[in-house]
Amino acid sequence: MAKMYYDVDANLELLKGKVIAVMGYGSQGHAQAQNLKDSGLNVVIGLRPGSARTERAQAAGFEVMTVEEAAKRADVIQILLPDETQSKVYNEEIKQHLTSGKALVFSHGFNIHFGQIVPPSDVDVFMVAPKSPGHLVRRTYTEGAGVPALIAVHQDASGKAKELALAYAKGIGSTKAGVLETSFGEETETDLFGEQAVLCGGASELVKAGFDTLVEAGYQPEIAYFECLHELKLIVDLMYEGGMSWMRYSVSDTAQYGDMTIGKRIINQETRKEMKRVLEEIQDGRFAKAWLLENQANRPTFNAMTRIEANHPIEKVGEQLRGMMSWLKKHE
Ligand code: NDP
Ligand code: MG
Ligand code: MG
Repeated sequence: MAKMYYDVDANLELLKGKVIAVMGYGSQGHAQAQNLKDSGLNVVIGLRPGSARTERAQAAGFEVMTVEEAAKRADVIQILLPDETQSKVYNEEIKQHLTSGKALVFSHGFNIHFGQIVPPSDVDVFMVAPKSPGHLVRRTYTEGAGVPALIAVHQDASGKAKELALAYAKGIGSTKAGVLETSFGEETETDLFGEQAVLCGGASELVKAGFDTLVEAGYQPEIAYFECLHELKLIVDLMYEGGMSWMRYSVSDTAQYGDMTIGKRIINQETRKEMKRVLEEIQDGRFAKAWLLENQANRPTFNAMTRIEANHPIEKVGEQLRGMMSWLKKHE
């Protein structure tokens, strides 16, 4: 079993007295910055002038400045900007202040792994990647816990990069939950594969295909919505709590028999072959290249597909049904 690191393995003192600049105050930025501050560390926030998030960061007690100013002041620079903007901001505002002995930190390996950011050799470069959305990084910390995280070292100029990564992980609360070591390559490729094949791409197409099949056969869209989307959460919760076996123990034997005999016809050998091809395109950089070009062209495909997907019938019926679920938060 891979080694897990916990509180006892990490020394927060390594970061005391250093200035940590958190660039960006979005999902991860607001969470990591506040956790680090509440862990007694010195954190400043780098944002672009006029950012709507400036006031929120100031209200939380942070000094907010431009990315360039924050990079200049900091010893440790954590880049929590959208992945597709990181290299531009790095080249324009951070690079010139990344002087010998500083550390550059990421929560996702995309830009380092695909060569979009190439730091000088005399700085530490490491990753601390919480395996959770930002709001949970914050909420679990305030509850005295934390979310699991991955750490990785790309460059160890100081000889202390891994210790620093563990200290940072402790600062955001992750050594309470457990920290695993990986590499930038492994983290980047598995993260992209997971979201494409299983979590986002695979799951959303599976749900839509099931919904469409029922509706095209004449069943009510409301029923199809509950069967194919709503109940998925309940099933995934069971897997999350106790794996496939606990899920199968909890559903009926009829459901379990159907699961085990029919599932392989849905995710079949052809699907598995396609997953391998998807993984190859991630590994050889074809996906990264397509996504970077898409951004350079101002996202024509991304925007068109977002509109088309938002108009799928499951979104219409879902909106009405969720409107009646008083326990759900509204998401416009
Ligand atoms: P968000 O999109 O939530 O936040 C981005 C932040 O960057 C905002 O504060 C935005 O501020 C700021 N920003 C955007 N463009 C610029 C710019 N040109 N100059 C200065 N600031 C800018 O990002 P995430 O927190 O989702 O992602 C950050 C990193 O964390 C990524 O590497 C991502 O892969 C990683 N990650 C994210 C997870 C998540 O759950 N979201 C989970 C694990 C890792 P404004 O627009 O107000 O200017
Ligand atoms: Mg991802
Ligand atoms: Mg059922």
